[in-house]
Amino acid sequence: MTGGAGYIGAHTAALLRRRGYAVTVVDNLSRGYRHNVGDAPFHQLDLADTPALSALVAAIRPDAVVHFAAYIAVGESMRVPELYFANNTGGSLSLLTAMTRAGIRCLVFSSTAAVYGMPRAVPILEDFPIAPVNAYGESKVLVERMLPWFDQVHGLRSMVLRYFNAAGADPEGRLGEEHEPETHLIPLLLRAVLSGEPVTVFGDDYPTPDGTCIRDYIHVHDLAEAHILALEALFAGAPSNQFNVGLGQGYSVLEVIRAVESVTGKKVPYRVGPRREGDPAILVAGAGRLGRTLGWAPQYPGLTEIVRTAWDFARQRSQTK
Ligand code: UDP
Repeated sequence: MTGGAGYIGAHTAALLRRRGYAVTVVDNLSRGYRHNVGDAPFHQLDLADTPALSALVAAIRPDAVVHFAAYIAVGESMRVPELYFANNTGGSLSLLTAMTRAGIRCLVFSSTAAVYGMPRAVPILEDFPIAPVNAYGESKVLVERMLPWFDQVHGLRSMVLRYFNAAGADPEGRLGEEHEPETHLIPLLLRAVLSGEPVTVFGDDYPTPDGTCIRDYIHVHDLAEAHILALEALFAGAPSNQFNVGLGQGYSVLEVIRAVESVTGKKVPYRVGPRREGDPAILVAGAGRLGRTLGWAPQYPGLTEIVRTAWDFARQRSQTK
């Protein structure tokens, strides 16, 4: 697994190990945390180092690779796109090269709803046009476009998971979202509640009912489960495929603020600022394919439960700091 020290990777690694799979984590720790890896076998390595990566893949000979390692901040990608193309696109190419050399032929790839750009309708279906409006989305699209060629030429089958907005934490409170700097809405709102420092709502003049952006928030556990189902489908011989991973239910930024207020019992201090570059107004998944094809069903179907797990984690973290 690449990126296993990150938020979604760490959850998936933990779930895989609970299901009896042996997981080796590769991460350069540029944005992830060593403590997220726990006692899984770990190699600190940058994907850009193709020779070292090839040697490692050849030595481990995994049945499959689950590839999370990437930069994920939309705003940053619009300031330094080169970082995103180098790390996300270039890093993935290096990984595909290493896998091909070692004859590893199953991949689960972390993609994003950002590949759809400004969708023509919601819910978004997997066969909608791919038209990203930020460099982060494009850096993932470029990988998605390589994958069919690796399948055709090298027989490398892949499951592409296009995440909507991952949120929430392990209910036992061990793993949760802690990016530094944090850019994601729910952890920022929880920090605001704890610190009293206001959050900025990025724009309230979007063509949505309350003017703020609408997103489809999905619990990280349900996202992790989608990876395991995708992996098991590959092991069973399924052909390459792409899946949206979301709940199919959208919430505006102001609705998320209200959910945080109801869970925490506290007011969220916020002010309205300008739009963030590269933000589509509405992203909501049509997630039927995932359920139909892989049998996926969410355990956290509501925003309140998702926010509650994130709040438990944020509170615990603030106490131990
Ligand atoms: N957002 C916001 N203020 C913030 C961070 C995010 O208003 O400080 C909004 C952002 O514009 C988007 C939504 O919250 O509409 C979710 O953003 P996030 O960065 O969490 O995820 P993304 O959709 O970029 O993957």
